[in-house]
This record gives sequence, C-alpha cells and structure tokens, in this order.
Amino acid sequence: MKISLIGVGLMGQALSEHLLAQGQQLTLFNRSPDKTVQLEQQGAVIAESAQSAVESSNICLLMLSDASAIISVLGEISPSSFQNKLIIQMGTIAPNESRALAKLITDCGGQYLECPVLGSLPEARSGTLILMAGGSYENYKSALPLLNLIGKEPRHIGDIGQGSTVKLAMNQLIAGLTSSFSLSLALVEKEGVETEQFMGIVRDSALYAPTFDKKLDRMLAQDFTNPNFPTKHLAKDTKLFLDVAKQLGLETCALKGIDKLLDKTLENGLADTDYSAIYSTVNKNTSP
Ligand code: NAP
Repeated sequence: MKISLIGVGLMGQALSEHLLAQGQQLTLFNRSPDKTVQLEQQGAVIAESAQSAVESSNICLLMLSDASAIISVLGEISPSSFQNKLIIQMGTIAPNESRALAKLITDCGGQYLECPVLGSLPEARSGTLILMAGGSYENYKSALPLLNLIGKEPRHIGDIGQGSTVKLAMNQLIAGLTSSFSLSLALVEKEGVETEQFMGIVRDSALYAPTFDKKLDRMLAQDFTNPNFPTKHLAKDTKLFLDVAKQLGLETCALKGIDKLLDKTLENGLADTDYSAIYSTVNKNTSP
C-alpha cells in the first residue's frame, strides 16, 4: 500500500506514528510544516503540497478539523490528481458534508470512503480505534487491509453519510455524559460529600460509564492540559448534531443547553484544552 495522510494535527500525528511503527510507507502533508518534523525523523516522507501527497499514493487519508478545512485542502489539488485514488475521510463531519465530498471526488474520477473514528490518541497510537465506514462495499473492501491496521474491528455501517451519522450519535453521548457527570460531581463536591462515597455508588449502579473515571482526576484537579480531544471539536460536533437533528425534526432542547455550556467553556479560553473542561464551567467557583 502507498499511503498518504493529510492533516497532521493531534489525531493525524498519532495515527502516523502508528502506521510508521507498522512498517508502512507513508507520505504526509500538513498546512503547518512544523508538525511533520518529528515524523520525518521516524521515516515519513513529507510532501510539499496536498497535491503531491495524493499523487504519491493510492490511498489518501484525510484527518482534518472539519468540512471547511477539507474543502480548502482539496481545492488546492488539481481534479485530475484524484483519478483512481481512494480518498478516506476520517474527521468528524456531517452526513451531508460527506455526501458532498463524495460527489466532488467521484466527479474527478476518484473513489471516496468515509471512515470517522471513535477513540483518541492512545487508541490511534495502538491501532485500536473504532472505525465506522460509509460508502460502497467495494471501496470498503479495498480499504480493509489499511483499516485493519488502524482499528480492531472495522465496521461497514452502510452508505456514505451513515458512518458520519453514527459518529455524530456517539459524540452526542460524549457531550451528554460529560456534562451530566460534571453537574452531579459538582453538586456533591459543593455539599462536601466525600468524592469516593459518591463514585462508589455511581460505579455500583447501572448509571456508570467508564468515561466518568477517565475524566474524574482531571475534573478534581482542574487540570485540562495536554488534551486528547479538545473542547473546540466537541463543540463543533454538538453543533453538527443539532443541525442534522433539526433537519430530521428531532426535539433537541436538552442538547441546546449542552451546546450553550460548551460555548461558555470556549468563551472561558478553554477551546484547546481537554473537553472535560466543561466541569470548570459547571463548577464556576473552582474554575482555573
Ligand atoms: P487538530 O489537532 O485540531 O488538527 C486539525 C488538523 O486540520 C491540523 O492538521 C490542521 O492543520 C488542519 N487544518 C485545520 N484547518 C485547516 C485549513 N483551513 N487548511 C488546512 N488544514 C487545516 O484536530 P484532531 O484532534 O487531530 O482532529 C481531527 C478530526 O478528527 C476532527 O474532525 C476531530 O473532530 C476528529 N476526531 C478527533 C479525535 C481526538 O481525540 N482528537 C477523536 C476522534 C475524532 P494545522 O496544523 O496547520 O493547523
């Protein structure tokens, strides 16, 4: 496989390290060149442009922030460069955005698969991401040898847009569980209940989710540095979910409250911190 990857941010970097450790030949392009320096030392070839990254490979992974970043990067590539290339979009975007990208790439003679991921930097570094592919079964099968390196059991969800839909559904759970846990934790902390008393009951109950323990120490210490998944991206995904849900006529008043909470967290200057920073907005008196 000749693989290229465009978008060497947090996830792109972690995924690149993993693919290189698996002995894969990898060409990288990132808008800010500084982020590729270390990966070059680890054996990656650094392309001077997105176009040369695509041209050097037969499969190109996109790990960019959002749809506008993808459109901007793809706009720098001449349409003929997509011929016979398989482009795999891995960021979190809306189903309609993914369908529009599919049209753009297939109109240029390329193939398109969406494959958003669940899991973060540790999972990307260990090849254990949960993969939710959407697109033709033929393209999924072509991508499978690579997907098997990236995730433990890649899943073909269905058509283009359906993988993105499941990914948004999962991230709505992240936003909901984290904000809900933050509020309960803040209440017991304010009333002076011993944290472990509360956590013991939560863990013994049907209401427990492993993410509570994953985020507990950060929340108690008010330490949201070195993020795996930054607040700004959870805020983006919540807005994407709200847009899609509105189009489908779903009642979203509960999620609108969480959206406001995320916006307040961004206003507090915590866009690039771990999303568990929601807790510092809920529990204002202990904000950093
Ligand atoms: P990130 O660290 O913010 O990286 C974003 C990447 O997009 C960087 O390479 C950035 O380039 C590039 N980019 C942004 N705007 C651009 C533009 N206009 N033109 C060209 N390049 C642009 O994000 P991430 O955490 O790696 O996440 C990437 C995607 O995966 C997002 O959709 C996110 O929601 C999703 N995701 C993230 C996680 C996670 O745990 N982090 C987990 C699952 C899914 P520069 O370096 O030049 O800024």
